[in-house]
Amino acid sequence: MSDKILIVEDEVRIVRTLRLYLEQAGFAVTAVHDGAQAVPAFRQERPSLVLLDLNLPGQDGLDVCRSLRRLGDVPIIMLTARTEEMDRLIGLELGADDYISKPFSPREVVARVRAVLRRTQGGLTNANLLQAGALQLDLAAYRVWIDGQLLDLTQTEFELLATLMRHKGHVLSRAQLLEALQGVAHEELERAIDQHIKNVRRKLKEAVGDVTIINTIYGVGYRLDEVELPHA
Ligand code: CA
Repeated sequence: MSDKILIVEDEVRIVRTLRLYLEQAGFAVTAVHDGAQAVPAFRQERPSLVLLDLNLPGQDGLDVCRSLRRLGDVPIIMLTARTEEMDRLIGLELGADDYISKPFSPREVVARVRAVLRRTQGGLTNANLLQAGALQLDLAAYRVWIDGQLLDLTQTEFELLATLMRHKGHVLSRAQLLEALQGVAHEELERAIDQHIKNVRRKLKEAVGDVTIINTIYGVGYRLDEVELPHA
């Protein structure tokens, strides 16, 4: 049975294009045009993935995302009109699985839908597990492994790594990382982030040697990349 995709988007032209490409790619597609219809459609259709526009008439995409999250762990890809919105979304820790900025190519959307479905259906059904290459993190058990080896991280280091893993492939600024650590970190200064990152890197290195997993993006922040270890 083909995966069903729910599109929540008010621009008819975009819906038409996405539907065309997704159906050609073998997906079943249902679409609604405002936020208020999203949750009822979700309950009725039980889609495998939701493509969710940020700017919707009535209830906006952020509220819809939160409502869907309360209903379960369906993969959600947010569609946003501006890059600044993307930054805001990432900072908000909404629990979306990916973000695509407009204008996008429909082919890219299909590729991202496939990638998110592969990731979320690839055996990691437990919403508490995060995976990025050789890194695996269990939010419930508060444990993290690299290449199967348990790492001994402080609470702050753990939260930092979890945040980077949730947004792997995306650059997060020090301010965004600090925001994600609210309620955990005692340090108020962004500099503290650098020290924690340094500690996380050292511990990763002790476990698996000199592999670049967390990249420094000069003047911006940090990005965790999916790295496969040669023997993993
Ligand atoms: Ca819109």
